[in-house]
Amino acid sequence: MAAPHGSALVIDAKELRGRPGTQQHLARTVGVPAGFSTVLVGFPEGEDLELDLRIESVHEGVLLTGTVSARMSGQCGRCLGELGQPLEVDVMQLFTYPERAADASEEDEDERLIGEDLRIDLEPVLRDLMVSALPFQPICREECPGLCSQCGLRMEDDPEHFHEQIDPRWAALADLRDGLDEPED
Ligand SMILES: [Zn+2]
Ligand SMILES: [Zn+2]
Repeated sequence: MAAPHGSALVIDAKELRGRPGTQQHLARTVGVPAGFSTVLVGFPEGEDLELDLRIESVHEGVLLTGTVSARMSGQCGRCLGELGQPLEVDVMQLFTYPERAADASEEDEDERLIGEDLRIDLEPVLRDLMVSALPFQPICREECPGLCSQCGLRMEDDPEHFHEQIDPRWAALADLRDGLDEPED
């Protein structure tokens, strides 16, 4: 059972500061925070989020490396069916001490600042990494046949399914016929 994420995703950098080379290992399972998703797919809130992270004190700040994994679930972009599979995301993120960032000559967009309280909240970083690891066009499986372009039926449910090309003049009649119960053959 995953603990509520609360402070479980917050690192206290006080012990690491000024001691380059010091390492901590963050291996725990927390609940996925809210908002780790896109429209079609995401990591459901409260599900297990497994952290396997190394927290390393470096001169500039704190370097976070490792992996996070959780079950992704959502809707297949082809057949609109449910999909769910584990997804592991690589993490590599430098958090910079505020005073270090001040004398940095160049802005590094990938850098994140550590606040004055020396607490590092991993939630926004993990959200960015995990959400951008989600597929743009999630599919339930590589061979997913999708939906019938004509009637929207899931092709998987009836692979033999096809439509005769009907003269538009007969289409109205065919619709009428489809409305009646047809005997199974
Ligand atoms: Zn599918
Ligand atoms: Zn069809």
